[in-house]
Amino acid sequence: PTDLNKLANEYLRLAYHGLRAKDKTFNAELITHFDESLPPVNIIPQDIGRVLLNLFNNAFYAVQQKQKMADEGYKPVLEIATLLSGRNAIISVKDNGTGIPDAIKDKILQPFFTTKPTGEGTGLGLSLSYDIVVKGHSGSVKIESTEKEGAEFTIQLPIVN
Ligand code: ADP
Ligand code: MG
Repeated sequence: PTDLNKLANEYLRLAYHGLRAKDKTFNAELITHFDESLPPVNIIPQDIGRVLLNLFNNAFYAVQQKQKMADEGYKPVLEIATLLSGRNAIISVKDNGTGIPDAIKDKILQPFFTTKPTGEGTGLGLSLSYDIVVKGHSGSVKIESTEKEGAEFTIQLPIVN
């Protein structure tokens, strides 16, 4: 059983510091709402860690891209929340980045689908994440997005124990 709040916070810092090591001018506001009543969750921590890292990296990339196009008033924000919902743990990752165009919404879970230039994305992150959550943990993945405004990925994981 794993403390999902701790896991999420560790991987969030890891992703943020990794990005800032490459781009010292990058800044994002990180808002976390960790539900302290969330019990330990029966997960494979390395696998869910990979899922979270991919969601965070995608979110950082989306806000970084938007920052390149937006005016000075734009401030990148990532919001990470956990929640106990019945016998499930919910974790959501929300960004105010570029968002997902409607035309590609049903493609982003496919292996090798990427909109990133060669070397910056393999297109495997979300398809792998989907398999880890759905096939590996009997959970679910929900994607919500408004083009140009941002995206939110919500992962549901049974707590079991
Ligand atoms: P990769 O990151 O290597 O491109 P992923 O499977 O992680 O592969 O993501 C596939 C595609 O989904 C991305 O290239 C991007 O177009 C879109 N995407 C994923 N996350 C976000 C996000 N938070 N905001 C906007 N687009 C996203
Ligand atoms: Mg990715």
